[in-house]
Amino acid sequence: MKAVRPRVVDILTHWKDWLLDHSFDLGWPTCWACRNGWNGKYDVFGWTTLEEAAKAWEKAPLIRCHIVPESLGGPTNPSNMFLLCQDCHDRAPDTSSVDAFMKWAESQDYNKSWKEEFMREWTAFGLAESDLVEFGKLVTLDEEKRAFTFAEDFERYLENNTTQWPFTGS
Ligand SMILES: [Zn+2]
Repeated sequence: MKAVRPRVVDILTHWKDWLLDHSFDLGWPTCWACRNGWNGKYDVFGWTTLEEAAKAWEKAPLIRCHIVPESLGGPTNPSNMFLLCQDCHDRAPDTSSVDAFMKWAESQDYNKSWKEEFMREWTAFGLAESDLVEFGKLVTLDEEKRAFTFAEDFERYLENNTTQWPFTGS
Protein backbone atom coordinates (compact mmCIF):
# COMPACT_ATOMS: atom_id res chain seq x y z
CA MET A 1 0.00 0.00 0.00
CA LYS A 2 1.19 3.48 -0.83
CA ALA A 3 2.10 5.68 2.08
CA VAL A 4 -0.17 8.60 2.88
CA ARG A 5 1.47 11.80 1.72
CA PRO A 6 2.34 14.36 4.38
CA ARG A 7 0.14 17.40 4.82
CA VAL A 8 1.03 20.53 2.88
CA VAL A 9 1.67 22.40 6.13
CA ASP A 10 4.26 19.79 7.15
CA ILE A 11 5.96 20.05 3.76
CA LEU A 12 6.00 23.85 4.00
CA THR A 13 7.39 23.65 7.51
CA HIS A 14 10.21 21.37 6.42
CA TRP A 15 11.11 23.50 3.37
CA LYS A 16 10.52 26.91 4.95
CA ASP A 17 14.19 27.96 5.08
CA TRP A 18 14.88 26.69 1.58
CA LEU A 19 11.83 28.57 0.27
CA LEU A 20 12.86 31.82 1.94
CA ASP A 21 16.45 31.38 0.72
CA HIS A 22 15.04 31.04 -2.79
CA SER A 23 12.85 34.16 -2.52
CA PHE A 24 9.53 32.39 -2.30
CA ASP A 25 6.76 34.07 -0.32
CA LEU A 26 5.09 31.66 2.07
CA GLY A 27 1.72 33.28 1.40
CA TRP A 28 2.02 33.04 -2.38
CA PRO A 29 1.41 29.52 -3.64
CA THR A 30 3.90 28.94 -6.41
CA CYS A 31 5.35 25.93 -8.21
CA TRP A 32 8.71 25.22 -6.58
CA ALA A 33 10.35 24.52 -9.93
CA CYS A 34 9.02 26.84 -12.65
CA ARG A 35 7.59 29.36 -10.16
CA ASN A 36 4.25 29.62 -11.85
CA GLY A 37 2.14 31.51 -9.29
CA TRP A 38 -1.09 31.68 -11.29
CA ASN A 39 -0.85 35.47 -11.34
CA GLY A 40 -1.45 35.65 -7.63
CA LYS A 41 -4.83 33.91 -7.80
CA TYR A 42 -4.20 31.89 -4.63
CA ASP A 43 -2.12 34.43 -2.71
CA VAL A 44 -2.99 35.20 0.89
CA PHE A 45 -1.95 38.26 2.82
CA GLY A 46 -1.80 38.90 6.53
CA TRP A 47 -1.62 35.25 7.52
CA THR A 48 -0.12 34.56 10.93
CA THR A 49 0.50 30.83 11.10
CA LEU A 50 1.96 28.48 8.53
CA GLU A 51 -1.18 26.41 8.99
CA GLU A 52 -3.16 29.35 7.62
CA ALA A 53 -0.77 29.91 4.71
CA ALA A 54 -0.88 26.20 3.89
CA LYS A 55 -4.62 26.43 3.19
CA ALA A 56 -3.83 28.76 0.29
CA TRP A 57 -1.19 26.35 -1.06
CA GLU A 58 -3.74 23.54 -0.86
CA LYS A 59 -6.15 25.48 -3.08
CA ALA A 60 -3.54 25.99 -5.80
CA PRO A 61 -3.14 23.23 -8.41
CA LEU A 62 0.07 21.97 -6.86
CA ILE A 63 1.01 18.33 -6.53
CA ARG A 64 2.89 16.86 -3.59
CA CYS A 65 5.60 15.05 -5.53
CA HIS A 66 8.32 12.71 -4.39
CA ILE A 67 11.82 14.03 -4.98
CA VAL A 68 13.23 10.51 -5.09
CA PRO A 69 10.34 8.39 -6.42
CA GLU A 70 8.87 5.67 -4.25
CA SER A 71 9.92 3.17 -6.91
CA LEU A 72 13.55 4.17 -6.31
CA GLY A 73 13.17 3.89 -2.55
CA GLY A 74 12.23 7.50 -1.80
CA PRO A 75 10.41 7.89 1.50
CA THR A 76 7.02 9.58 1.78
CA ASN A 77 8.03 12.20 4.31
CA PRO A 78 8.23 16.00 4.09
CA SER A 79 11.95 16.01 3.33
CA ASN A 80 11.32 14.00 0.16
CA MET A 81 8.24 15.93 -0.96
CA PHE A 82 8.22 18.91 -3.30
CA LEU A 83 5.27 21.02 -4.48
CA LEU A 84 5.06 21.15 -8.27
CA CYS A 85 2.53 22.27 -10.87
CA GLN A 86 1.19 19.58 -13.19
CA ASP A 87 3.57 20.52 -16.03
CA CYS A 88 6.65 20.31 -13.85
CA HIS A 89 5.37 17.12 -12.27
CA ASP A 90 5.14 15.60 -15.75
CA ARG A 91 8.61 16.82 -16.68
CA ALA A 92 10.38 16.08 -13.39
CA PRO A 93 13.24 13.60 -13.71
CA ASP A 94 13.06 10.21 -12.03
CA THR A 95 16.29 10.20 -10.18
CA SER A 96 17.67 8.73 -6.99
CA SER A 97 19.87 11.80 -6.61
CA VAL A 98 18.36 14.60 -4.54
CA ASP A 99 21.11 16.90 -5.88
CA ALA A 100 20.16 16.18 -9.48
CA PHE A 101 16.52 16.83 -8.71
CA MET A 102 17.30 20.14 -7.00
CA LYS A 103 19.49 21.22 -9.91
CA TRP A 104 16.64 20.40 -12.28
CA ALA A 105 14.12 22.29 -10.12
CA GLU A 106 16.29 25.37 -9.85
CA SER A 107 16.80 25.54 -13.60
CA GLN A 108 13.09 25.55 -14.50
CA ASP A 109 11.66 28.82 -15.68
CA TYR A 110 7.97 29.35 -16.33
CA ASN A 111 8.55 32.31 -18.64
CA LYS A 112 11.21 30.46 -20.59
CA SER A 113 9.08 27.37 -21.09
CA TRP A 114 6.22 29.58 -22.21
CA LYS A 115 8.44 31.29 -24.71
CA GLU A 116 9.58 27.93 -26.06
CA GLU A 117 6.01 26.70 -26.36
CA PHE A 118 4.95 29.95 -27.95
CA MET A 119 7.75 29.75 -30.52
CA ARG A 120 6.79 26.15 -31.38
CA GLU A 121 3.22 27.24 -32.11
CA TRP A 122 4.41 30.35 -33.88
CA THR A 123 6.67 28.44 -36.23
CA ALA A 124 3.90 25.87 -36.77
CA PHE A 125 2.14 28.68 -38.63
CA GLY A 126 5.13 29.07 -40.87
CA LEU A 127 6.03 32.31 -39.17
CA ALA A 128 9.57 33.29 -38.35
CA GLU A 129 10.88 34.68 -35.09
CA SER A 130 11.42 38.00 -36.87
CA ASP A 131 7.66 38.15 -37.62
CA LEU A 132 7.13 38.63 -33.91
CA VAL A 133 8.18 42.24 -34.24
CA GLU A 134 5.29 42.83 -36.61
CA PHE A 135 2.67 40.51 -35.14
CA GLY A 136 3.68 39.94 -31.52
CA LYS A 137 1.41 42.65 -30.22
CA LEU A 138 -1.56 40.97 -31.88
CA VAL A 139 -1.23 37.90 -29.73
CA THR A 140 -2.25 37.70 -26.10
CA LEU A 141 -1.66 34.89 -23.73
CA ASP A 142 -4.23 33.62 -21.26
CA GLU A 143 -2.04 32.08 -18.61
CA GLU A 144 -4.96 30.53 -16.77
CA LYS A 145 -6.28 28.67 -19.80
CA ARG A 146 -2.80 28.22 -21.24
CA ALA A 147 -4.06 29.39 -24.59
CA PHE A 148 -3.13 32.04 -27.09
CA THR A 149 -5.66 34.53 -28.38
CA PHE A 150 -5.05 36.24 -31.66
CA ALA A 151 -6.38 39.66 -32.52
CA GLU A 152 -9.06 39.58 -35.24
CA ASP A 153 -6.85 41.20 -37.85
CA PHE A 154 -4.20 38.65 -37.19
CA GLU A 155 -6.68 35.75 -37.42
CA ARG A 156 -7.66 37.03 -40.84
CA TYR A 157 -4.01 37.28 -41.82
CA LEU A 158 -3.40 33.69 -40.71
CA GLU A 159 -6.47 32.44 -42.55
CA ASN A 160 -5.13 33.91 -45.74
CA ASN A 161 -1.51 33.03 -45.28
CA THR A 162 -1.23 29.70 -43.57
CA THR A 163 -2.52 26.26 -44.30
CA GLN A 164 -2.74 25.22 -40.69
CA TRP A 165 -5.43 27.62 -39.55
CA PRO A 166 -7.53 27.27 -37.48
CA PHE A 167 -4.93 26.32 -34.99
CA THR A 168 -6.41 23.91 -32.49
CA GLY A 169 -3.62 23.80 -29.97
CA SER A 170 -1.95 20.81 -28.47
ZN1 LIG B 1 5.92 24.25 -12.47
